[in-house]
Amino acid sequence: MAKATLATACAGACGRIRPEAALRPAVARLAAALEEQAAASRGIAWRSLGSMSGALAAALALTFCFKALLLLASGGLAWASLAAIVSGFANASVLVYGGGLLAALLIEASVTGWQASSARRLLVAPSDSARGDLFFVFLALSGGAAAATTLLSAGLVDAVVAWSDAASARGPLSGQSAWLAAPLLYFGMTFFNYWNHRLLHTRWLWPLHAVHHSAQDFTICNAARVSPTEIGIVTLSQALPAALLGASADAILIASLVASFEILWTHSRLPGLAWLERIGLSSPRAHVIHHAREARYHNRNFGDLVLLWDQLFGTYLDSRQARGEIPLGVDGLGSGYDCRRPVRDYLQTHWAWMCSLRRLLRAPAG
Ligand SMILES: [Zn+2]
Ligand SMILES: [Zn+2]
Repeated sequence: MAKATLATACAGACGRIRPEAALRPAVARLAAALEEQAAASRGIAWRSLGSMSGALAAALALTFCFKALLLLASGGLAWASLAAIVSGFANASVLVYGGGLLAALLIEASVTGWQASSARRLLVAPSDSARGDLFFVFLALSGGAAAATTLLSAGLVDAVVAWSDAASARGPLSGQSAWLAAPLLYFGMTFFNYWNHRLLHTRWLWPLHAVHHSAQDFTICNAARVSPTEIGIVTLSQALPAALLGASADAILIASLVASFEILWTHSRLPGLAWLERIGLSSPRAHVIHHAREARYHNRNFGDLVLLWDQLFGTYLDSRQARGEIPLGVDGLGSGYDCRRPVRDYLQTHWAWMCSLRRLLRAPAG
């Protein structure tokens, strides 16, 4: 009787509560919210892809106009010349750079997820720092950065590169296969890049490099945030090993492409790669340490793709020793760069360096 009463009571209670009926609206609300979220994410992703493609197309169009104007200024725009620009334009390094950058952004976003990606930081409500990065990317894509380097060095950088190309044809690696010569040449370049980066951190050259460190938000496009004079110094440090070791044009092209890739790699937000440091390679986190605002992290991890030279010369800091969020930016000398005014920052780099040099030369010794 008690059992029957219990069963009856239970049936009655269950009948009144009807859990599936109570849950149904909640499940429906959750499903609707998820659907809404997914639609919003898809919308953001498509809009961002559209913005990136639009920005790239605009930069390419501007490059085209820029080259056409140069041609016009140098003696008239004939149809044959226009055809020459179009064919040269199709092979231009700007396409390699733009395509590589777009691919790097997409690969990074597919690993980190949209929320943590550089693409989101650059395109959805970008910070002043990220907006500045986009301006530097535009300079690189439009050819403006290369033109400024030529102008400021009075053609010296281009002349040294031309000499290096000629000298490399007679060097010890010139007769070797490009696939054998390129890794050796690249290894030589990492050594020169390490020392050139250390020099850029001395008080004699720091104002030229501080603009790179002025970024407060870490994105792949930080890689483009460089002064024209630093571009010249880095170009020379790559031309020297090419001239000394000697290598075919193909080997130089392969080594240069890897060197272009490395800087995108180190400024990416890819996580969990600290184990690479144990075999002498760099990780993005190791480069975050290099960009740290705090003095205890300064002058560490100069290498981009290779940390071997840091490990040999005592400037290496294991990225696992630096936990949590690391504030980025510059204090003291070099803090005059303001991420809210990237055009002014870009224009003042060379001038700031000259002023700093003058002060150093006038300062009493000791
Ligand atoms: Zn640096
Ligand atoms: Zn950097």
